[in-house]
Amino acid sequence: MAIETKVGAYLCAGCGIGEAVDMAGLQKVANGELKIPVCKVHEKLCLPEGVRMIKDDIAAEGLNRVIIAGCSFRTKSLEFQFDDHVLTDRLALREYVAWTLEPQHEDSQAAAEDYLRMSAAKVRNSEPPEALIEEINRTVLVIGGGKTGMTAALAAVAAGSEVVIVEKETQLGGWAAKFSKVFPHEAPYTTLQDNGISEMIRQVEAEPKIKVRLAATVKRIDGEPGKFEVELEGGEAGQTFKVGSIIQASGWKPYDASKLGHLGYGRLSNVVTNVQFEEMQANGGILRLSDRRAPKSVAFIQCAGSRDQEHLPYCSAVCCRVSLKQALQLRDKYPDAKVFILYKDMRSPGQYEAFYKAVQNDEGIFLTKGEVVRVDGLPDDRVEIELSDTLFGKNVSIQADMLILATGMVPTTKVEEIPLDSAEAQPVTTPDASEQKAGASAEAGAHILNLSYRKGSDLPTLKYGFPDSHYICFPYETQRTAIFAAGAVRAPMDLSAAENDGCGAALKAVQALHLIGSGAALHPRAGDISYPDFFLQRCTQCKRCTEECPFGTLDEDAKGTPQPHPFRCRRCGVCMGACPERIVSFKNYSVHMIGSMLKAIEVPEEDEEKPRVLAFMCENDALPSLDIAAKHHLRLNPFVRIIPVRCLGSMNVVWIADALSAGIDGVLLIGCKHGDDYQCHFIKGSELANRRMENVQEKLKQLVLEKERVQITTLALNEWEKIPQVFDNFMADIDKVGANPYKGF
Ligand code: SF4
Ligand code: SF4
Repeated sequence: MAIETKVGAYLCAGCGIGEAVDMAGLQKVANGELKIPVCKVHEKLCLPEGVRMIKDDIAAEGLNRVIIAGCSFRTKSLEFQFDDHVLTDRLALREYVAWTLEPQHEDSQAAAEDYLRMSAAKVRNSEPPEALIEEINRTVLVIGGGKTGMTAALAAVAAGSEVVIVEKETQLGGWAAKFSKVFPHEAPYTTLQDNGISEMIRQVEAEPKIKVRLAATVKRIDGEPGKFEVELEGGEAGQTFKVGSIIQASGWKPYDASKLGHLGYGRLSNVVTNVQFEEMQANGGILRLSDRRAPKSVAFIQCAGSRDQEHLPYCSAVCCRVSLKQALQLRDKYPDAKVFILYKDMRSPGQYEAFYKAVQNDEGIFLTKGEVVRVDGLPDDRVEIELSDTLFGKNVSIQADMLILATGMVPTTKVEEIPLDSAEAQPVTTPDASEQKAGASAEAGAHILNLSYRKGSDLPTLKYGFPDSHYICFPYETQRTAIFAAGAVRAPMDLSAAENDGCGAALKAVQALHLIGSGAALHPRAGDISYPDFFLQRCTQCKRCTEECPFGTLDEDAKGTPQPHPFRCRRCGVCMGACPERIVSFKNYSVHMIGSMLKAIEVPEEDEEKPRVLAFMCENDALPSLDIAAKHHLRLNPFVRIIPVRCLGSMNVVWIADALSAGIDGVLLIGCKHGDDYQCHFIKGSELANRRMENVQEKLKQLVLEKERVQITTLALNEWEKIPQVFDNFMADIDKVGANPYKGF
């Protein structure tokens, strides 16, 4: 039986709200039209006495819904926390009205009253969420026993977790163990250091809370965060065990040098890569492959296949310093040898500048800038490199006994291009390849995690094959909940950075366990205990939710009915926006709740010439940018009414139909940028909203309404200054097309 709602509304007169808004008028609307039994004005609600007043009323009056009409929900969140059974709405009267509309103006007052109506509708049509709490496993699985993986394992143990490391090789250490010396990462940053890896292996092996599985790979991972079931292949094959969260530290592989024939690789016998250089050092020293003689001169070509649109378009961040290191190692081994480092740009940031300077001071090492024009063979298997764009103003030729190519790093999640018509290239039914690139499914064929997810076996990747979730905001996060990427699989990096990454990802993995254990969402809605409920009796198995969920939350049964895994869910609401049957809802966020809010707006008659426009604003970037605009007291159009949404992807097109039939003149959707360098916090939400707009435009045509009435735009956090213009431009379009002809029906 539904519990009767008992609403209390608290109007804050602080922060200039009392001067801008007629508080008594608002109170009248609350007590009269909205039949809110308890409505009080307070001079500064966030003060202890204001909060105490609300708490006393909750206890004395049995309130279970509270409206705080004051500041944005991003402020004072600790102050306005009440009992779990009380649903609180933070109505941003300060940002929506007091700081952005003309004070004491009838249009501003109308806006404040509408927002109160909308807030009342919201709390009356939603319920306090209840956390889903289940027994979870708190072990962290680390895939990869290199420096990143071992650091992550030790850090996770230090934070109180148990760890299983799965390493495909027969020993721990990864790439670092193969590099006898590494470039300096401690003061004075001028001499090479030991890799320190044996000591780290010793610590890992001595740690009773870390189990190491060598010569093993993951055959299959079933389940969801907190309850993953892992089966291994190799090592102790067939054995399964449970883990709660996962760190993928599977590292990097060298760029395929066979594609660098233009730089002599595979064509000239004494051209090798920087990785081969390390192998030679470990196996008897640096000798020419053609005759096993010590080289008297060695050239390095930097950015070999890097920062090159034909090969790796990005910088691998370490190759410059690796060549500086290898040059010193050569000079140490062969004091009479000459070394040439040929670079487009030399990148040695931060403290490494001191290392670069130390190498420059070596009289046997020549560094010169230029673009490689050609690499040719000379008699005696020597090599000649011609450079253009040099600092000498003319082309320069360098001759050497040996050439080392400084090749870059490729993440292990990156697989070679597979033709799109092959079965493996499309692990899920996605409409087109571009959607796959936008983060829809796993990189085809990576097969490191072997997840049993309907949306693919591995982490979806970004443009260059890195599995990061978002390029700015969320390091270590991936598009699969509680599976974190760390080290060179996430981005090219050196060993010091890999160590930082290991620690960072370990903290995320441990934090994830705490959140999952308390039924709360992970980033970006960290702490949110709501989760989607699917009323499956009415499901038509259209699979839209399964396909559009950006996090692979939903599997499906043989008939195509979605099978939710709540702990995989990030609570974005994209499934709610996708479902044509409107059977997906959260207790405190639903199609019905938003529908009731927009229907609560008072729409003036056409002859009043006061249009009404609805702006659905994404809570991640657009709405916070409005907070900033408000802080700067930018003046906004008073005819706009704002409804925050978790993500534009959660927008159900029925809201637009409802708004237009309620007489609203136009609907503006403001979300995050999409595409390869997307900023959508839920990866594809804004892109999906954009796609749904095609249906909206079709609907407008059927209703004989102008296409200008519904528009979608993007706004980044730092674009807050644009908001007045965004609203005004839209309003100008609405003015042109005139009032909604359905007004008054
Ligand atoms: S709320 Fe988002 S993450 Fe959760 S099931 Fe729906 S679409 Fe997937
Ligand atoms: S979108 Fe709705 S109707 Fe379609 S499969 Fe999902 S729950 Fe069922």
